Amino acid sequence: MRVPVLAGNWKMYMTPTESQSMIDQLIPLIEDLQNRKVVLCPPYTSLSVLSKAIEGSPIQLGAQNMYPVDEGAFTGEVSPKMLQALQCSYVIIGHSERRQYFGETDSSVAEKTLKALQYNLTPIVCVGETLEQREEKLTEPTIEIQIRKGLAPLVAGQFEKVIIAYEPVWAIGTGRTASPEDAQDVCAFIRTIVASIAGDEAQKVPILYGGSVKPENIKELMSQPDIDGALVGGASLKAESFARIVRFE
Ligand code: PEP
Repeated sequence: MRVPVLAGNWKMYMTPTESQSMIDQLIPLIEDLQNRKVVLCPPYTSLSVLSKAIEGSPIQLGAQNMYPVDEGAFTGEVSPKMLQALQCSYVIIGHSERRQYFGETDSSVAEKTLKALQYNLTPIVCVGETLEQREEKLTEPTIEIQIRKGLAPLVAGQFEKVIIAYEPVWAIGTGRTASPEDAQDVCAFIRTIVASIAGDEAQKVPILYGGSVKPENIKELMSQPDIDGALVGGASLKAESFARIVRFE
């Protein structure tokens, strides 16, 4: 019922020229695939190049962030209207690096999530605990607060248009992956929380795992019932490794 979603987050890597070359290599490796949603979230500066390069391919475009205002005097920011004009259909909201380095909070996540939906952008809302929180057995309460606050302004019919990415902070870019069983437990917990807010819509919400996903561990992660896909950082930068993740065979 839930189509697998494999999303690449290029973070602050890839010039427009490098982006073009990566996509030229990636498309032939995955274009035969059915039953997958493949999303690439490059830096803003590569959106224009990629929006042309993905035409006619199964790849969809996403941004890594946005400012939740239509337009205005906000130097350095990018609006959902601008993303929409570049054929973006997804936007990552509240990535842990944004929370850690740029002061994003659950309330900015809530504001951005609602605004993204108003522009028909699918928000990929990131949640996850730090190592400290995990060691103090605070994983579930931390994630519950992030979800309740992050989705607070949404009303019935909007929840199923959201993707949630469970990204334990200690697993991002560290080479440490949550075990498939641990990731499944947290993703199932996330679905329970979403169900307590949104009822049956929770069954339609794709829940992704993120944190050092690689070609070697994707198959086992994808075999878990509540893991519907992956948000992939480092391993999405190379066409060959991202293609293997997308195929997860
Ligand atoms: C990410 O950037 O969301 C991420 C999960 O990174 P990595 O795959 O490199 O751990």
